[in-house]
Amino acid sequence: MKVTIFTLFPDMFPGPLNDSVVGKALKEKIWSLETVNIRDFSKDKYKTVDDKPFGGGAGMVIKPDILSESIDSAYDKRSPIIYMSPRGKVLNQKKVEELSKNKKLFIICGRYEGIDERIIEEYKVEEISIGDYVLSGGEIPALALIDACVRQLSGVIGNAAALDEESFSAGLLEYPHYTRPSVWRGKEVPETLLSGNHAEIAKWRKGQSESITKKRRKDLWKVYRKNNAS
Ligand code: SAM
Repeated sequence: MKVTIFTLFPDMFPGPLNDSVVGKALKEKIWSLETVNIRDFSKDKYKTVDDKPFGGGAGMVIKPDILSESIDSAYDKRSPIIYMSPRGKVLNQKKVEELSKNKKLFIICGRYEGIDERIIEEYKVEEISIGDYVLSGGEIPALALIDACVRQLSGVIGNAAALDEESFSAGLLEYPHYTRPSVWRGKEVPETLLSGNHAEIAKWRKGQSESITKKRRKDLWKVYRKNNAS
């Protein structure tokens, strides 16, 4: 997978994506990263990329002429092009799995009040949010999106089966984990996990996943119940 980022802050990449399993996969060329500095396409000596919003109001907006030139320098016009935006559909694991199937992803990172709306129409851009809160730029959301997509790629996670058991993969939150020592500060590990009985362990974990999801995420629980109604 090749990821191309349109940003005013290219030095923020690969940043944390250079470490751990995702960083190892970058070094092994399982995925690659290209940044396009939007500011390089500015036309004036001040390297201006933004302007006041029509109709007035606070803040500045990234200009469509400058941004489109940066996009045209790299975009293949076939692959998904995403704008990280608090107005977008909130990212979930299903969307991550879908996006990770693409050979190429193009991601626009906004700053200030965001980008000119005509860019979204012109390039049929998909807006994706990482949650109902506002960050100062799209770079951190892009890092989160890329991390989530890359760990789905074959060869990135040592034990691929681990992906199937993670939160959201079956529509449930994950069960609790324990490791050695079996007694820590007087707290014991649940007996079933020490039993060596794999069927019982699987049953215990599923039960835990269900009760945690039911308690913490009524939205996921409702969908899970509907999909698993017998
Ligand atoms: N005026 C915008 C609004 O109210 O929706 C917020 C702009 S924000 C200060 C600047 C940029 O940060 C956005 O253009 C977007 O790229 C990014 N951003 C902020 N919060 C985000 C979120 N929750 N998810 C994805 N991107 C976000």
